[in-house]
Amino acid sequence: MPDPAQRPDLVVVGAGAAGLYACLTAVQEGARVVLVSARPLAETASYWAQGGLAAALAGDDSPALHLEDTLEAGRGLVRRSAAEVLCAEGPARFRHLEALGVRFDADRHGNLALGLEGGHARRRVAHAGGSATGRRILRQLSAVVAEHPRIEVLEGRRAAALATADDGRCAGLICDDGRVLGGRAVVLATGGAAALWSRTTNPPGSFGSGPLLAHAAGAALADLEFVQFHPTAVVGLRGREGFLISEAVRGEGATLHDAAGGRFVDELAPRDAVARAIFRVLSESGEPAVHLDMRGVDPGRFPNVVGALREAGLDPLRELVPVAPASHYAMGGVVTDLDGRAPGVPGLYAVGECACTGLHGANRLASNSLSECFVFGRRAALAGLAEPAPASPPHAQPPAEPVAPPPSRETRAAMWRHAGLERDAAGLARLLGDPHPLARLVARSALAREESRGAHARSDHPRLDPALDGRHTVTGPGEGAPRFERWE
Ligand SMILES: Cc1cc2nc3c(=O)[nH]c(=O)nc-3n(C[C@H](O)[C@H](O)[C@H](O)COP(=O)(O)OP(=O)(O)OC[C@H]3O[C@@H](n4cnc5c(N)ncnc54)[C@H](O)[C@@H]3O)c2cc1C
Repeated sequence: MPDPAQRPDLVVVGAGAAGLYACLTAVQEGARVVLVSARPLAETASYWAQGGLAAALAGDDSPALHLEDTLEAGRGLVRRSAAEVLCAEGPARFRHLEALGVRFDADRHGNLALGLEGGHARRRVAHAGGSATGRRILRQLSAVVAEHPRIEVLEGRRAAALATADDGRCAGLICDDGRVLGGRAVVLATGGAAALWSRTTNPPGSFGSGPLLAHAAGAALADLEFVQFHPTAVVGLRGREGFLISEAVRGEGATLHDAAGGRFVDELAPRDAVARAIFRVLSESGEPAVHLDMRGVDPGRFPNVVGALREAGLDPLRELVPVAPASHYAMGGVVTDLDGRAPGVPGLYAVGECACTGLHGANRLASNSLSECFVFGRRAALAGLAEPAPASPPHAQPPAEPVAPPPSRETRAAMWRHAGLERDAAGLARLLGDPHPLARLVARSALAREESRGAHARSDHPRLDPALDGRHTVTGPGEGAPRFERWE
């Protein structure tokens, strides 16, 4: 057990891939860490990740080719410097995970097995336990974290507000039970916001609490209008509504069919294109789902998908799987530099899905997000440790109103209706009066971006506006109108 008399160096919020890896990086440097996690391990998005993590590991691949695919998927909005970091450092982080004891799948010759996913020109997705990648990685990392003498884990505790020291630097936080935690820096790793939408692949805790905490502390948020809708989430199976069928299944040959049995889209096109093609077929037909045919796919490659569907009463080796899009991944979040630093709030860092480095642009390339957790989780931990010691303990001023409340059922339904796969000004304007603060901020960003690009499709502005190439939608502190910024 850590000595309570010794102050932690880092306070990390969130025990998904990004938070756990930031903790492990910090203790490797000899630091002490306190980790706060609101929900159980099995309720992180990281635990649910299926396909794997993307890194240029194959002989015919390179960081430059990975970069090309990332830029292409992001539709003119990727911050090139962030994508360069991800593609260059991904392979080293993968090897470090192996060194930490994560066993990735090998082919029958004992070579690393790499999956192919939409938008990737090479096989570069490392997976573990078939499609149980997240579970394998998280179990291993959390076991190492739990046993580490310099990491204190506070499970079932929620960060309620960030706290500053005498010098105004962010030097800790207040938990929902009133406990105050202090350190040189705070690393937010609270995950995404896709559960703000009613139909989602995400665990219920992914409603964007990190961005709301950071915004309340004076940080800027960016690109909130870009939310990726996964094309193939299960429809109508009891207990499995929204269960995600990995893109990798299509990479291995599964096909999509409309009610008449016809194919209607290139199944390996980027996610936004496939999701919108399904959305249009469903809008025209009025059906709740299209059908995924994975009867020709090797079931041994996706044991948890096959197992979950069979448990719900559907045998995907003999029957077609009803699927439709669901909200899946938030490209936007807390604005950070390439070390996870939130400019304007010294001492505050954000990593993983709650951050916006600009890496994903308007559309995340599949499997870049787990890699992002490791690459930027490490960078933020190292930069956080280099912060000066706080001038004083953090001031514990509990907020008068909850800063990051969970969304109501009504808010989630309204987000699906008005900020879904296709939006327009009239629908988005209705969200401006929503009681949930993040719903209002998403609506403001989506209204400001009067074009269609990547995951953001405006039916009233169906074309991409070249004047907005490379320009991120930034919402500063408060709720004023967002501005557009170019990032180096
Ligand atoms: C079904 C599914 C499949 C996916 N498959 C892949 C894939 O194959 N490859 C890929 O690259 N990506 C995939 N993704 C996306 C990827 O899993 C996520 O982007 C990534 O895991 C996010 O990790 P994270 O550490 O940022 O957040 P998470 O793993 O979501 O962890 C967030 C943590 O923060 C905690 N938390 C939140 N708010 C608070 C608070 N206020 N106080 C305290 N704790 C808090 C939560 O309890 C949790 O511990 C998938 C996502 C889903 C949902």
